Amino acid sequence: MKRNSNQLVRLDDSALAGESEAISPASAKPLFGLDTVSLAARMIEMGEPAWRGPQLAEAIYRQRLPELSEFTTLSKSLRQKLAVEGWQVGRPRIAQVFRSVDGTERYLVECQDGVTVETVWMPDGDDGEAGDGSEVDDADGELKERAGKSWRRATICVSSQVGCAVNCQFCLTAKLGLQRNLTAGEIAGQVVAVLDRHGVEVGRDRVNLVFMGMGEPFLNYDNFMAAVTLLVREVELSPQRMTVSTSGIVPGIERFAQEPADLRPKLAISLNAPDDRVRDELMPINRKWRIEAVIDAVRGVKLRPRERITFEYVLLGGVTDQPEHALEVARLVRRTGLPAKVNLIAWNPGPGIAYTTPRPEAVEAFRATLVDQGIPAYLRRPRGRDIYAACGQLKRTVEE
Ligand code: SF4
Repeated sequence: MKRNSNQLVRLDDSALAGESEAISPASAKPLFGLDTVSLAARMIEMGEPAWRGPQLAEAIYRQRLPELSEFTTLSKSLRQKLAVEGWQVGRPRIAQVFRSVDGTERYLVECQDGVTVETVWMPDGDDGEAGDGSEVDDADGELKERAGKSWRRATICVSSQVGCAVNCQFCLTAKLGLQRNLTAGEIAGQVVAVLDRHGVEVGRDRVNLVFMGMGEPFLNYDNFMAAVTLLVREVELSPQRMTVSTSGIVPGIERFAQEPADLRPKLAISLNAPDDRVRDELMPINRKWRIEAVIDAVRGVKLRPRERITFEYVLLGGVTDQPEHALEVARLVRRTGLPAKVNLIAWNPGPGIAYTTPRPEAVEAFRATLVDQGIPAYLRRPRGRDIYAACGQLKRTVEE
């Protein structure tokens, strides 16, 4: 599909003024990324009482203040002392915004060293959470329009690495290769910057996180789980509103299965093929960990009530969208023996990738076949295709 460049809207910098602090030299020490205990330890090292740690965490993660100068619970002298010692909030900042005609926003989020990653805001979601039971977690059982907000629920898609080494053949991010892992603060910082931009009230607004942006989270496991821990324990988001997607890194899935239920996000497996032969071609990682090994690892996850494993399946026209493929996928999903659902994604085009988008009739026939086989199947709505924000399209596309 040829991109309509008129739809790629770069907002000017004035639209972002006051949103976050300017990037400081890489030598500056970021407070963002440290949990309450670590913040208290830093305070003690500076000769301050330990209770300054929770005070700092409150300002950084709950009040989401992007600059030390706004920390009015600290004395001016302490703020100065922190600054003199090189400390700053150091939260990644939204450097550019691209807004889709459908309301989706794609951000270039800049880390302290100037590296940028992509984060996406999808007001009203993309139906990726359909059928997972989380709808009934809303406090009063219904969605309410929040005063002054144009959205009732939203999904934030978060990156875990700069680029990606997994090299899925249908994915634009793969073209970047892996540039570096993101730190826990850089992963959690994307979320907090976007929550801040949209005035999200944690605990009241319904916001889902999907770790499905640039990168393979389970190839940056420690930083990914440290970011989740910050988001759960410090920002106070629910892990049951988070989903991490993996291409099938078996040792990562095995570690993930051991995470405590009050910290573990939901799991999605990026399956994308009906068998090992096709998957070997589309996802070279399959040559290392076969579908059977991935499914065995998934069986080790102890699901919470109403939780399901999600299988993500990108439909490529003529390659993975045939009725016999759907029958094979149903068989694979049944083999897990776990409550599961399939999220279908009609492939989103990208330059230099020689696949075609499936016909709408093929997509519907695929979904209907899965449902006939007793497998819940949902079609994810493509969001932000015009701004290269849709699944598999994140590649820091900035040209106008
Ligand atoms: S689909 Fe995900 S795992 Fe595969 S190359 Fe793209 S970003 Fe990496």
